[in-house]
Amino acid sequence: SQSYKLVVAGGGTAGLSVSNCFSRILGKGNVALIEPKNVNFRYFSIIMFQTRFALQVHYYQPLWTFVGGGIKDVKESERPIRNFIPPHCEWIQNSVKEFLPDENAVKLSDNSTINYEYLVVAIGIEMDLDRIKGLKEALNTEGVCSNYMVDTVTKTWKCIQNFKEGNAIFTFPNTPIKCAGAPQKIMYLADDYFRKTNKRDKANIIYNSSLGVIFGAPKYAQSLNEIVKKRNITVNYKHNLIEIKPQTKEAIFEKLETGEKVPFKYDMIHVTPPQKPPAVLKPLADSAGFVNVDKETLQHTKYSNIFSLGDCSNLPTSKTAAAVAAESGVLVENLNAFMNKSPMKRKYTGYTSCPLITSYNTCILAEFDYNLQPLETFPIDQGKERTSMYYMTKDAIPFIYWNLLTRCLYYGVD
Ligand code: FAD
Repeated sequence: SQSYKLVVAGGGTAGLSVSNCFSRILGKGNVALIEPKNVNFRYFSIIMFQTRFALQVHYYQPLWTFVGGGIKDVKESERPIRNFIPPHCEWIQNSVKEFLPDENAVKLSDNSTINYEYLVVAIGIEMDLDRIKGLKEALNTEGVCSNYMVDTVTKTWKCIQNFKEGNAIFTFPNTPIKCAGAPQKIMYLADDYFRKTNKRDKANIIYNSSLGVIFGAPKYAQSLNEIVKKRNITVNYKHNLIEIKPQTKEAIFEKLETGEKVPFKYDMIHVTPPQKPPAVLKPLADSAGFVNVDKETLQHTKYSNIFSLGDCSNLPTSKTAAAVAAESGVLVENLNAFMNKSPMKRKYTGYTSCPLITSYNTCILAEFDYNLQPLETFPIDQGKERTSMYYMTKDAIPFIYWNLLTRCLYYGVD
């Protein structure tokens, strides 16, 4: 079997950033990145000849809110992953089937094993569509969409455009999810679009959330509560989507406090699917299934040569790419110190950020820590809807992501 000083499992936002950093630190032959093929077929034609070629891509998922809102093309969210894998890093185009932490090894889907001295786990979070009865089939029917998957995100914009009248429902599931703001951002875009196209009078916009508050951090929750009131959006808390019946265009919600099941008619419904940690994490996981790490150092609580970050970790913060930026800075410094038998000095504060898009030209840029206290970058009140923050999120942050974060030239705020 092959052996590396450092193996990074998962080449998403977190894995790309960390493998870029360590390839620079450790040099050629020492770092391997395990990331399965993510094949996307492209057609390329020259006059009469058309060839199909496979392109392996990385997705910048935060852009999917803009894709669902008709502001950006889905192609702008993808780039060839090859461009982000450093030349000094070995790309193993496979997926981890089993973590064997007692043997310092991982088993791949072809049953080969890779040994490591140090391991970073960054395999993200999975969609759990089966938890909602009928959802998979319903996503192929009229009026049902989701920004959370690349295959369904372009349909969101069609649903918003095709909507004529009736109930437009937006959901938040009863599980941990990535980007806790995304379920409502698309709702504000729909509301704005309906107003611009004179359909708002005929629309009931309903936000059915499993949570008991509109947003975790109180400062931004206060602003959002004012916005839903001002925009005449109905909010039902502790309402969890359990079934979709496309034949009758009904969505069944369970009231979490009483167990009562209530049907809602929909003309369009944007579903945020329930999500779950990949089952393969089990040997490294806490009782909820996420990799069990120290919340300040990012080191595994049992296996000291394993670190984790991003959506698959149990860091008790909101799962975002912005959090990954801060986490990767802490992880790289601490793991490097640990490799050199020095004390680990960096402490992660829980920094995370969520650009809450509230219309086609405004955004509340929420930034906060483990205690849900604001940790804002700009010397202005970021709790207010601002046009500057909208353009920052639409144009500047994607630039930072593609050019700096994924290449390990930016560590965010912490
Ligand atoms: P990912 O980037 O998802 O990467 C995980 C990688 O692991 C994937 O490449 C996958 O192929 C690989 N993998 C999976 N299983 C295995 C295996 N067994 N073996 C090897 N590799 C494996 N964040 C923000 O900061 N701001 C936003 O505005 C924002 N909006 C969002 C809107 C939407 C609709 C969505 C879906 C997400 C949004 N996010 C936002 C969240 C952000 O995209 C994620 O938090 C971030 O990408 C997490 O990075 P990660 O590396 O942990 O996981």
